[in-house]
Amino acid sequence: MTAEVIVDIANSEVDRIFEYRAAENVSAGCRVKVPFGGRVVDGFVMRLKEGSDFDASKLKSVLSVVDEVPVLNRECLLLVERISARYRCPKALVLRLFLPSELRRGAVRELFKNYAVFAGEGELSSRAKMQAAALSFMREMRRFGYTELCAKFGGSAVAALVKKGVLKVEKERVARAPYAGMEGAAPERTLTPAQRETVEKIDRSSETVQLIHGVTGSGKTEIYLTLIAKALRAGKSAIFLVPEISLTPQMLSQLRARFGGRAAILHSGLSAGEKFDEWWRLRTGEAKIAVGARSAVFAPLENIGVIILDEEHDTSYVSESNPRYSTVEIARLRAEYNGCKLVLGSATPSVETYLKAKTGEYGLNELPERINRRPMPEILIADMRREVRRGNNSAFSAVLRDELADCLAAGRQAIIFLNRRGFAQSVICRECGYVAKCESCDVSLTYHSEENCLKCHYCGAQYRMLTACPECGGVHLNYTGTGTQKVVGELRKMYPSARILRMDNDTTSGKEGHYKILKAFSERQADILVGTQMIAKGHDFPAVTLVGILDADMSLHFSDYRSGERTFQLVTQVSGRSGRAEEQGKVVLQTYDPENYILRFAVDYDYKGFFEHEISLRKATNFPPFARIVRVMVSSEEEPKALETLKEVWFSLKELFDAHTGEFLFFNKMKAPVKRIQNKYRYQVLMRLRSDALLPEIYARSLAHSARGVSVYVEENPVNMS
Ligand code: ADP
Ligand code: ZN
Repeated sequence: MTAEVIVDIANSEVDRIFEYRAAENVSAGCRVKVPFGGRVVDGFVMRLKEGSDFDASKLKSVLSVVDEVPVLNRECLLLVERISARYRCPKALVLRLFLPSELRRGAVRELFKNYAVFAGEGELSSRAKMQAAALSFMREMRRFGYTELCAKFGGSAVAALVKKGVLKVEKERVARAPYAGMEGAAPERTLTPAQRETVEKIDRSSETVQLIHGVTGSGKTEIYLTLIAKALRAGKSAIFLVPEISLTPQMLSQLRARFGGRAAILHSGLSAGEKFDEWWRLRTGEAKIAVGARSAVFAPLENIGVIILDEEHDTSYVSESNPRYSTVEIARLRAEYNGCKLVLGSATPSVETYLKAKTGEYGLNELPERINRRPMPEILIADMRREVRRGNNSAFSAVLRDELADCLAAGRQAIIFLNRRGFAQSVICRECGYVAKCESCDVSLTYHSEENCLKCHYCGAQYRMLTACPECGGVHLNYTGTGTQKVVGELRKMYPSARILRMDNDTTSGKEGHYKILKAFSERQADILVGTQMIAKGHDFPAVTLVGILDADMSLHFSDYRSGERTFQLVTQVSGRSGRAEEQGKVVLQTYDPENYILRFAVDYDYKGFFEHEISLRKATNFPPFARIVRVMVSSEEEPKALETLKEVWFSLKELFDAHTGEFLFFNKMKAPVKRIQNKYRYQVLMRLRSDALLPEIYARSLAHSARGVSVYVEENPVNMS
């Protein structure tokens, strides 16, 4: 047999199949050791075949097999090929998405267990006491773990019994589904009629991809859990994707309560070893549900019965490192392969997704009401221009202050949301206009009052606080913008007895810290939670009856074509945290632009109105989903090298442009908006295309110029254009 092997070297020059002669114990999906360029390297068997395309006598042999049983199944091997072709990414790199890092570092686990089985009486020497003891033990037991038997009676005695034919050794897969008995341990809730109809409609529908567009609090989670439970009952497995599992303590405990050990939870707070263990439980079939952020889409599951992708609009579903894959795209491939449904859920679907649902490519399931017809929270607009005119220069409008006072007096909880972008508090010299910037990145620094230092939000570098302007020596330094720390400071002054928690990238080291803050808040150890984007995502805090959005329009005025959509999503999602239980909720939305149509649609909870408006705008201006934005990024620590490569990429793409001018709505090269990040100079070719037709060619032509010291990558509809 000949094995087609990918060597584990992430280099485009070795990104091809190498053939090796393979012994019988080699199978597709196994890791192997192979000779390569005078060394022994790790390889991965993609396929086995008879004969060879090369002179078979010259083929080298596989040296050894690392895995007894393939670590990747057929479907995953197929996916590796498709992802590699789609994103022009070396297969060795794509493989890494599928395998936990521990495995690559050589971890191996027994997939089989040996059992000793009683086979019949035999003649024993009278002096073989241990053998006699083992024999009588096995006469009783009939079947016993081989290793355990050796531990009891000694390896040589057991081996002797095997040799005499008294015992047989049987290999068996390690126990499967040890939690099977737990089925139904945590009873399912009785679904509301709307939830039940949705489940049935999804089951009946012929479309692979199903969108659940349900307002916040409409009970989508319960629908997901029901679909997963149904898959398990049918003997199948399930994948449940969420933007960031470690940020949703309730979700974790719900999953644990309902599915126990059958759910493997892969989140960023786990150590590499823990991730490996969870992965292994999935691979062996011990766990049937893979729950996690986007990487869980690569879970080594077989016979998948449903794939859920919650908060479909979330930007974290697009990978920001090579390969820059779309999780929805991969989930769809897996759903098609397994003949199951891919269920996308959101209160604010991306306009791309909603358009597909409206045009019939996806099944559309609408849940326009909250559970038990609880009203949506009322959104009050606070016009900040008027506040300023009245001489109020604080971050809080009069109406928000009053509402906060009422909320606290009633013993309820409040959330104060600050846009991530509004976080920046840069330092400006009032005399010469100097702005403090990072030495490695072309961005201004942010002042952090607690540590009294300046930080770069791109690379994390810290700088000492300035006492005078380094340019002109002036001492009048100004802090612009409002940060979360400043907001907490103001709150402490206004409500001295309130207990306040803050959550942003700085309050915590690692995701575990976020979890702790959210847990403390849900256990009502605090009255007010102040935070950025992170607190917008699917949390269910029943005692929260007030949400304050301090700067609703911060994201409206970015030049990104999606800024309107983002703002609508953010306002809706954050508002959705209010009044989820019995008490009616309220939202105060502060803005300098109260007539803005996006905010108006959000205040009225009018997703459809927003969608119609947005989609006609996109159509008129030729933006996605009616076009595709493609950015080719060239970056290098040496600026001349970046420029030179940019020129090469540009020439190569220009040929394409000249041959298909009609396909292009825009085509140009330029500096990236942030010209330098972590000492790398960044240049880009920006394109807007009418269709996907030229994508493969664009990938091929661009990536061909990637070289030592300069990286080139392609992004489709990039989430972050900086
Ligand atoms: P969504 O995910 O759509 O925002 P959730 O699934 O979090 O909504 O549900 C909102 C609230 O309604 C939660 O507190 C949840 O426990 C509750 N809930 C959901 N389904 C039911 C049901 N069938 N019966 C009673 N309460 C439910
Ligand atoms: Zn920096």
